[in-house]
Amino acid sequence: MVHTRKELAMIKKIISTFSEIAFPKVCVCCGNSVVPPNECICNYCLRNRFEPHMSDETLILPEIINFQFAMWQFDKGGYLQNLLHKLKYDYLKGVGEELGFAAGKAFLKYNEINNFNIGELTPLIVPVPLHPSKQRKRGYNQARAIGEGISKVTDWPVIASAVVERVKKTTTQTGLSSEARKKNLFQAFKLNDREIINHHFPIVVDDVFTTGATTFELADELLKENREQRAGIITVAMA
Ligand SMILES: [Zn+2]
Repeated sequence: MVHTRKELAMIKKIISTFSEIAFPKVCVCCGNSVVPPNECICNYCLRNRFEPHMSDETLILPEIINFQFAMWQFDKGGYLQNLLHKLKYDYLKGVGEELGFAAGKAFLKYNEINNFNIGELTPLIVPVPLHPSKQRKRGYNQARAIGEGISKVTDWPVIASAVVERVKKTTTQTGLSSEARKKNLFQAFKLNDREIINHHFPIVVDDVFTTGATTFELADELLKENREQRAGIITVAMA
């Protein structure tokens, strides 16, 4: 029996409706059911589970960084750490997009209050790239998944992945001092098209902001030839 395309679409819809009833989607964070359009994280986790990060007045930003925004405070050993771990190692790209969407929404609210002057330039989302070998292993870049979520709520474009690369294979940053992290990341990134940065306000996106070594180094590479220009940073968490 040969089915037409319309019939196949209908069958697919019936199966997916059935599987939603039989196997409702559960939150990867807490196990409660998830309400569409979300597929990975429930509304309670997105709205109430984590501690919002309050901007740290003592944090010294490099001159080229206009703002640093993190949505939540990192909870060592808690739900958020577990969630970010799943995003990185359990092939859950959707988690990144949903976290990015929430972070973008929170940033827009924060921006309304603080009104960062990002000038006439269109913001351009620049996810921290992974080294190609790591990306191959993982199948996707978790920072890019977050960036795509931010893009969905802000309408800002995401830089094409070929434009900025990670050229240096770095060892894990965990346990390194701030100085050692900086050294580890020195010249880790390479921008292949300076023109695109000249016409945008780059916003560097990552999962966690710890000492800032990664995001600062990337911003430094982006604005290497135009020190008058500024960049911003958005992350899901602040450690
Ligand atoms: Zn949940």
